[in-house]
Amino acid sequence: MDFRDTPEEAAFRERVRSWLQENIPEGWGTPGHHEPEGEERQAFYKDWSRKLYEAGLVGVTWPKAYGGYEQHVTHQVIAMEEFARSGAPDHMNVIGLGMAGPTIIAHGTEEQKQRFVKRILTAEDMWCQGFSEPGAGSDLAGLSTRAVKDGNEYVINGQKVWSSLAHIADFCILVTRTDPNAGRHHGLTYFLLDMHLPGVDVRPLKQITGDSEFNEIFFNDVRVPEEAVIGGEGNGWAVAITTLMNERASLGIALTVRLEVALRKLVELAKSTKQNGSTAADDPVIRDRIGQFWSELQALRFTNYRSFSKFLQTGMPGPEGSTAKLVWSETNQRLTKLALEIEGPYAMLSGGDHAVDDGYWQRWQLRSRGNTIEGGTSEILRNIIAERVLGLPKSR
Ligand SMILES: Cc1cc2nc3c(=O)[nH]c(=O)nc-3n(C[C@H](O)[C@H](O)[C@H](O)COP(=O)(O)OP(=O)(O)OC[C@H]3O[C@@H](n4cnc5c(N)ncnc54)[C@H](O)[C@@H]3O)c2cc1C
Repeated sequence: MDFRDTPEEAAFRERVRSWLQENIPEGWGTPGHHEPEGEERQAFYKDWSRKLYEAGLVGVTWPKAYGGYEQHVTHQVIAMEEFARSGAPDHMNVIGLGMAGPTIIAHGTEEQKQRFVKRILTAEDMWCQGFSEPGAGSDLAGLSTRAVKDGNEYVINGQKVWSSLAHIADFCILVTRTDPNAGRHHGLTYFLLDMHLPGVDVRPLKQITGDSEFNEIFFNDVRVPEEAVIGGEGNGWAVAITTLMNERASLGIALTVRLEVALRKLVELAKSTKQNGSTAADDPVIRDRIGQFWSELQALRFTNYRSFSKFLQTGMPGPEGSTAKLVWSETNQRLTKLALEIEGPYAMLSGGDHAVDDGYWQRWQLRSRGNTIEGGTSEILRNIIAERVLGLPKSR
């Protein structure tokens, strides 16, 4: 594979890079810079997300008929690489972009595509994902939230948990059980659910970082019109698989760049941390560990390019996408831990005048724990790699 950009791709990369340079808010991501809070935060991210759309940085490959830019997937990869490298604020509709949008484009009716797709890109409608339940996480097919047909409506009862962004979402990609007598993977139905319907009750959960990004959602006799079903009654499993494949496939390349950014920050930390008259970077053991991260990063980069070139040939995201998420999340966890080791006693300070880098590494070490759980736990991803990439016997 030739890794160099064509002249046309190089021009696109340059355009993305300079747009980001000109538009990232001043001081963003530097120590001492604080993000807006409360309603101001929502307004800031909405405005920023719309700008990203208007600049052509999201919806790169999505059909023009639904508001996308319909460009080659290589452009999407370039946009994601440059975006991750720049450290810019994220588009706020991560679940809409990574999961709901691709699922609606693949399985939605014409009306659903017209109604929802563009408003995902502009962040006019925010989305959340209602898959996990208290009794069904890794084992999604074990879910028990019930939807019962009543005339031309469904009545939904049950509970979802860990639903990121549900507290600000307008819609939810929701998987329910419509036929409890069918096999575990049958009798599931997938809804595009309006979160403002009566009977939808969202309760935020506090995370280890102190943030409340995810929530419980309770459904109490929520009456949903049948037009909210996507993919047809009983076909929820196939639709959910599309969502999960897209979730993992879209991540790989951006995660590699994120890891590279974190590694460069780690190098700066090692160089600037004083240790007994020298710096942490002079310590041979620390140099050794940083060098190891660098070689792991290169292995991840080329694994991603290999699965990307397979994607270019087949047009389908493959199970290899699981490798990127697994390696990134575990490497990132070890990398942020090394940063805290380098900080030494200062590692205990996550804020205040003496905190190193304003508590950046403390926050990301804590957040990195969730990364090995969300979007498929490390154990589940290892099972997928063993069974579907390597052809080893099934775990059960
Ligand atoms: C930050 C964060 C955000 C999230 N956001 C969302 C969201 O927006 N929407 C949503 O629906 N969910 C979300 N989740 C939930 C996430 O998808 C689940 O936590 C995950 O699928 C694991 O399910 P569980 O928590 O029920 O654990 P379980 O499935 O009960 O697993 C418990 C342990 O057993 C292991 N295990 C389970 N099955 C096997 C097996 N077959 N072989 C080997 N080991 C196994 C797991 O790896 C894990 O270590 C989020 C989670 C986190 C941490």
